[in-house]
Amino acid sequence: MEQLDVLAIGAHPDDVEMSCGGTLIKLVREGWRVGIVDCTRGELGSRGTVAVRAQEAAAAAALIGAVVRENLELPDGRIEVTLEAITALVRLFRLYRPQILLFPPPFERHPDHEQVHRLVRAAYFHSGLAKLVTQGPDGQPQEPYRPRLLFCYMQAYEFEPSFYVDISDVYADKVRAVQAHASQVYVPGVSPQDGPETVLSRPEFWDMLEVRARYFGMRIGVRYAEAFLALTPLGLPTLAVWLERRSA
Ligand SMILES: [Zn+2]
Repeated sequence: MEQLDVLAIGAHPDDVEMSCGGTLIKLVREGWRVGIVDCTRGELGSRGTVAVRAQEAAAAAALIGAVVRENLELPDGRIEVTLEAITALVRLFRLYRPQILLFPPPFERHPDHEQVHRLVRAAYFHSGLAKLVTQGPDGQPQEPYRPRLLFCYMQAYEFEPSFYVDISDVYADKVRAVQAHASQVYVPGVSPQDGPETVLSRPEFWDMLEVRARYFGMRIGVRYAEAFLALTPLGLPTLAVWLERRSA
């Protein structure tokens, strides 16, 4: 099994696209290996079926360029930090050995998002314990492994970000990845007209997505950006990462 550089974990099949899709697309373009783990199949969502949502998730993963997209099949709306759920995620951490984890922030509107935050942190810790034995898909014991960097993406509730990622050149591609979830978000001529209206299914959803990306972009002097909270202390090898060469 080939390793991943970055693993993004979401509660529901469209969470990752909306919150850090641009960042993932950019990493893939730069040649890094990116994977996605959805914790539920989104079966409690007001719109769409499990089968449709799985197709949409696969299409979105292809647009992003993610090399794997796994689903833990935890119960939507009732995610809990059980030993079973922790172990399922530990197996994936040890299998794919990502350096960076992207996951929900600790304080969120949807209870599942907060639970996934706690689940990821528990699995991150357990995954490094040598005496916690897990088996890989081949039935062999897995090596302990702990990812290096923990970053939370932003969902409904805002926080003061630790850093922003410039997604200006991939924003249109992020929109396409989110549009792949046409059962959830408003895509003219594609989204089904039946089903209850939600925050996402209204045309105004696209304004919300763009306004936030524009605002974060403005804060760092670019057109579009995504914001992150760093749980891992951030260090720089030199301040020169922010310097530009100028002619004398
Ligand atoms: Zn969600």
